Amino acid sequence: MDLTHRPRRLRQDRVRGLVSETSLEPADLIAPVFVDATTDERRPIETMPGHERVPIDEAVARVEEVLETGVEAVMLFGIPESKDPEGTRAWAADGVVQEATRRITAETDAYVITDVCLCEYTDHGHCGPLEEELRGEDVTEGGPACDPIRTVDNDATLEALDRIAVSHAEAGADMIAPSGMMDGMVAAIREGLDREGFEHVPIMSYAAKYESAFYGPFRDAADGAPAFGDRRHYQMDPANAREAMREVRLDVEQGADVLMVKPALPYLDIVADLRREFDHPVAAYNVSGEYAMLQAAAEKGWLDLEDVAHESLLSIKRAGADLILTYFAEDVAAALSS
Ligand SMILES: [Zn+2]
Repeated sequence: MDLTHRPRRLRQDRVRGLVSETSLEPADLIAPVFVDATTDERRPIETMPGHERVPIDEAVARVEEVLETGVEAVMLFGIPESKDPEGTRAWAADGVVQEATRRITAETDAYVITDVCLCEYTDHGHCGPLEEELRGEDVTEGGPACDPIRTVDNDATLEALDRIAVSHAEAGADMIAPSGMMDGMVAAIREGLDREGFEHVPIMSYAAKYESAFYGPFRDAADGAPAFGDRRHYQMDPANAREAMREVRLDVEQGADVLMVKPALPYLDIVADLRREFDHPVAAYNVSGEYAMLQAAAEKGWLDLEDVAHESLLSIKRAGADLILTYFAEDVAAALSS
């Protein structure tokens, strides 16, 4: 029996830490924060236990709670006071994200990243203004009877994204994160930011964002479910990995500073591919469905929440992510620091 090689030698308690290949730090994590202009009190999000939508007046307090755990960055999502077909409240100087950003950057040291998209601001819930032939249809009551082959007007959306990004930067956003998967979105935003003197503001592109069923709970949180159809004509097909590299390369060419994969756990192969192919920082979005299913199992007593949350985030880093957006940010960071 040849037992020259005994891997167990390095699994003894005092050496395990020395040979550990992956570490997870609070500074790796970004906490999503939902600011809601339609409410003046905190509202729990039922499908995401422990998370809530907060009114603008509570935005600073909410971010301070995040910072206390050791997490240093937040991603802001806004629920506007009103919606329309064009999503005009998305770039309003007194919009929900703009106002929250101004207050948070004035009163805290948080690194503020803003989500740039239109789905929370359009009355039809799609990520941009609709194609001409769909405009004027009653899209809020079940939608056009026809199968919408093409939903969002890509190029009209680019103009809106430019405006939104500039309005966020003017409010003090530290980083801009476009999530709509429109062709050319990074270039349009880079051009807008540079034109207005925000050359120093980086772009974290949702570069490989899949049309995933794991987003369900977020749609409750941000009130952004499409009123008709789905997002498969702009978000990626879950079947495709090679296409992700093409998509991401385009964003790199357009000047993306950080490359994101969304969701995370069902797409760790894509995270690993990105890590191999590009030198840029890679972000992964551990999405609401990934959070909700662990919460539900823990509620039933079937899994230990703290352990599975930590292991999930560790595996995302091991696959190659440098930073992780996650609803577990505060809990995991607090556990790491204690
Ligand atoms: Zn969107």
